[in-house]
Amino acid sequence: MFAARRKGYGFDLQAVEMATRAGLHRAGAAVLARLLSERGDHAARVACACGAQACYHDHRPKRFLTALGSLELERAYYVCPCCHQGQSPRDAELDVAGTEYSPGVRRMMALVGSESSFEHGRQQLELLAGIDVSTKAVERQAEAIGTDIEAREQAAIHRAKQLQLPEVCAPAVPVLYIEMDGTGVPVVKAETEGRVGKVEGQPAHTREVKLGCVFTQTYTDQEGGPVRDADSTSYTGAIETAQDFGLRLYTEAWRRGWSRAQKKVVLGDGAVWIWNLADQHFPGAIQIVDLYHARQHLWELSAKLFPNDTQARKQWTAICLDQLDKGKIEALVKILRDLQPTHAELAKIVVNEADYLERNAQRMRYPEFRGQGLFVGSGVIEAGCKTAIGARLKRSGMFWTVRGANAIIALRCCRLSNRFEDYWADRSGAA
Ligand SMILES: [Zn+2]
Repeated sequence: MFAARRKGYGFDLQAVEMATRAGLHRAGAAVLARLLSERGDHAARVACACGAQACYHDHRPKRFLTALGSLELERAYYVCPCCHQGQSPRDAELDVAGTEYSPGVRRMMALVGSESSFEHGRQQLELLAGIDVSTKAVERQAEAIGTDIEAREQAAIHRAKQLQLPEVCAPAVPVLYIEMDGTGVPVVKAETEGRVGKVEGQPAHTREVKLGCVFTQTYTDQEGGPVRDADSTSYTGAIETAQDFGLRLYTEAWRRGWSRAQKKVVLGDGAVWIWNLADQHFPGAIQIVDLYHARQHLWELSAKLFPNDTQARKQWTAICLDQLDKGKIEALVKILRDLQPTHAELAKIVVNEADYLERNAQRMRYPEFRGQGLFVGSGVIEAGCKTAIGARLKRSGMFWTVRGANAIIALRCCRLSNRFEDYWADRSGAA
C-alpha cells in the first residue's frame, strides 16, 4: 500500500486502517491463545457429575471465535472411569462450554441482535468490530442470551412465589409506581392457531406482550407536579398469561423496594386484567386509570353521539371532560345514563361507557391524586411499549415465534433496565 502511494497511485487510509486492525487482531489472537492454553499445569482428577472422580486423559484443542478473531487453545480433557463421561472444566471456567463463541463475542451478538434485525446486526459486527459471523449465528446467540436472562428471571419469580426473596435493606422509596399495558406483536401462523383475532371471524395475527414498568418519584416540581426520578425505570414483560405476568411484575416491584415504599401507585388503562392483577398482587396501592385513556373514551363516544353536529359535540365533550378532570365521576355517569338514545346499538355503547366510568370511579379522582403530587397518566409504559417492544419487534415483515420474541423481549428489558452489565458480571462470577 505504501509502495503504491510512492508510485503515485494515491492512498486509501480506510483500507490501511482496516487491514492494520485485522493484522493486530490476528496477533492478539495468537497471544490470547498462548495465554489461555494450559500445558502441564492441570489437576490429575476432577469431580464428575456422577459423584466419582474423572481422570486426566489428554489435552484436546478447542476452537472458538473471540473479539480478536478465531483461536484454538489446548485444554485438559478428563474421562470418568465410572460413567465414561468426558469433560473439560476449563470450558466452563472460560464460559465457552458448548459454544464456538467467546463471551465477548456473544455479548456483542446479543447487543446488536437486540437493537435491530439480525442481518443488520451482522453487518454492524463486521464493520465495527471486524467480526465475521452469519445472520443465523447472531439470531441464535442473541436468543440464547435472552433465554438465559429469562431463565434467571424465572428463578427469581419462583423465589418470590415461595416468599423467599431477600428483604431489601435500603432507604425507603417515597413513591413507587407500577404501570402495565399490553401491545400486539406479529407472530408466525403456528402461534395463533385456534386463537380469535380482534376482527370477529378472522384469525389473530398477533400475540399480546404484557409489559410492566416500575419507577420511583422523590420530588415534585415548583407547581407541585410529580417528577420521575432520573434513570429509575425498569421494565419486564413477555407474551404470557395475566397470571404469570402478575408474578413477574410483583417480583420486579419487590426488587425495586415495594415492601418499603411509603406510597404505592398502580397506573393503567381500563383493561380488566390490569386491575385484577393490581388487587391481587399490589394491595394497598393507589389505583389510577390513565387520564388520557379516560378522555379518549369520551371523545370517541361524543363522535358517535353527534356525528353531524360539530357544535353540539364540542359543547357536550367540554362538559364531560370538565367533570372528568374534576373527578366528578358520579355526575358524569348520570349525564351518560340520562342520554338514553333511541338507536339500540348506540344505547348499548352508552351503557358500556357509563359502566366503565362507574366501575373505575375510585380510580378517577384526579384532583385528589394531583393534590398528592402524583402522576395521573401512564405515559411511561406507553413509551415503553414503543421503545422496548415496537421499535424491535413490530417492524414490517417481521413475524416471531413466541419463544424467539420472549427471548428478545427479555434481552431488551434487561438492557433498558440497565442490568446488562450486571448479567455479564454474574455470569463470570465476578459479581
Ligand atoms: Zn462419572
